[in-house]
Amino acid sequence: MSLDKQEINQLKQWPYRECRGLMKSLKKREPKSGKVLFETGYGPSGLPHIGTFAEVARTTWVRQAYTLMTGEQTLLYAFSDDMDGLRKVPNNIPNRELIAEHLGKPLCDIPDPFGERESYSGYMNAKLREFLDHFGFDYTFKASHEQYRGGVFNEGLGRILDNYEKIRGVILPTLSEENRADWSPFMPICRSCGKVNSTRVVATHPERGTLSYVCDGSLVHEKTGWGYSGCGDESEIPVTDGNVKVGWKVDWALRWYTFGVNYEMYGKDLIDSAKLSSKICRILGEQPPVGMFYEMFLDQEGHKISKSIGNGLTIDEWLTYGPLESLALFIYKRPDRASRLHFDVIPQHIDEYLNHLSRWPDLDRIKRCNSPVYFIHHAQAQDDPEQLGFSTDLNFNVILNLVSVLNSEDREMIWTYLLRYRPDAEQDRELIDGLIDKALVYYRDFVLPTKDYQLPSDEMRPAVDALVVWLDGYDGDDAVEIQNAAYAAGKDAGVNLREFFKTMYQLLIGQDQGPRLGTFIQLYGVKDTLKLAQAKLVELSG
Ligand SMILES: [Zn+2]
Repeated sequence: MSLDKQEINQLKQWPYRECRGLMKSLKKREPKSGKVLFETGYGPSGLPHIGTFAEVARTTWVRQAYTLMTGEQTLLYAFSDDMDGLRKVPNNIPNRELIAEHLGKPLCDIPDPFGERESYSGYMNAKLREFLDHFGFDYTFKASHEQYRGGVFNEGLGRILDNYEKIRGVILPTLSEENRADWSPFMPICRSCGKVNSTRVVATHPERGTLSYVCDGSLVHEKTGWGYSGCGDESEIPVTDGNVKVGWKVDWALRWYTFGVNYEMYGKDLIDSAKLSSKICRILGEQPPVGMFYEMFLDQEGHKISKSIGNGLTIDEWLTYGPLESLALFIYKRPDRASRLHFDVIPQHIDEYLNHLSRWPDLDRIKRCNSPVYFIHHAQAQDDPEQLGFSTDLNFNVILNLVSVLNSEDREMIWTYLLRYRPDAEQDRELIDGLIDKALVYYRDFVLPTKDYQLPSDEMRPAVDALVVWLDGYDGDDAVEIQNAAYAAGKDAGVNLREFFKTMYQLLIGQDQGPRLGTFIQLYGVKDTLKLAQAKLVELSG
């Protein structure tokens, strides 16, 4: 698809805004490798998680927007920081004692706790790639240790050595007084014990391209007694070929400089790091990339989600209750807002996704490019856009309520009701089947445990009885007519209408809330609702 200038100006979604910033920056700085280069970072001390997914997905959407706006292809490097030292044994891995013996070493030099790969980070990197491949992301994988040890970073490392004091000048003001003296951009890997966290630089020798270090640092975790201590080695080593790595903020700048990264986004917690890395990148002689920062996900209570605490949802947990597209929409919407990531946001995002999907067929070309569907179903939106859509007004909440009232896992029965309500649902059988699967699990785990049928109060009883009588004499199945009759029943009895509807939900589905009552009764059927109401009135009285 190619768009003219006027059409491009009508692209308003955030990925396009990001591209405008990127295009502006490219006027000052051509892509180093010919193609515009995007980057995402991954710390392989743990498994990939929802934050990893979100960052790669959002970056991918900016790439797609860029290609739409310019017609040019781009590259994405998924970079793994596997030369970083391991300071603490994560809680969720096997063979923790074995790993504890290797604390302080680079992740790429620690054995794989799962015993499957050549190293700790080898295992985690493989998981990252499986994960990205599973979701169909397009990327080039880069392992930090291969860049260091393969000499890819040598030129940049030489520049860091040449600009040693300038770089210290950027970082020192951000450190506490007592940490300043010992701070060096370089982190030597001890020749003798192989640790990176126990060494410190004591002198640099730019004329020889080397530095001198001592290995005398230590750390012990109080709770476990695990930690590391230096071996006492003192040596002079070259700064190149993987003999040393550089500390995190310098590492980021080194990558940007070496590869010529044009765009990288990062979490809000890294804003200050990104500023410092940008300064260092300029000292090395390159423009830093452009990119937005995104807000962090929050847990149920509104606390920031942390890998180590384990609050918030995993991708697998989301996918148990909602399709991947609903997760993609959650991640797509407002990256600049701190969103609560908890089970209860899933139904809403499924329904928003279905809503976008059902509007798609009627959108013109530009409106389609501004729809989240364009990004969530990118390949199909390009190749086969007319196949995308959703033809009924069924949604997850309707299905969930149906499951709730039927109190059954009988898929055929659920379909019978759905088709009676919306015969055109047949066209989307596969999608709806998937939703039924999710609704059944969601119902079992979240709705069923809170179900509490209640007999109407004496005050509400006349209104309930009036509606039951009306339903008994009603021949149609029109949601609006039923809704009006329900209003009339409540009004005539002189009760609070909101309380009346709540009473009906408590009686029919054992919940405080439900869909529009008229819609619900139409879906479940007038006669079935009548039977259910009468049965519950008897059952709850006895
Ligand atoms: Zn050592």
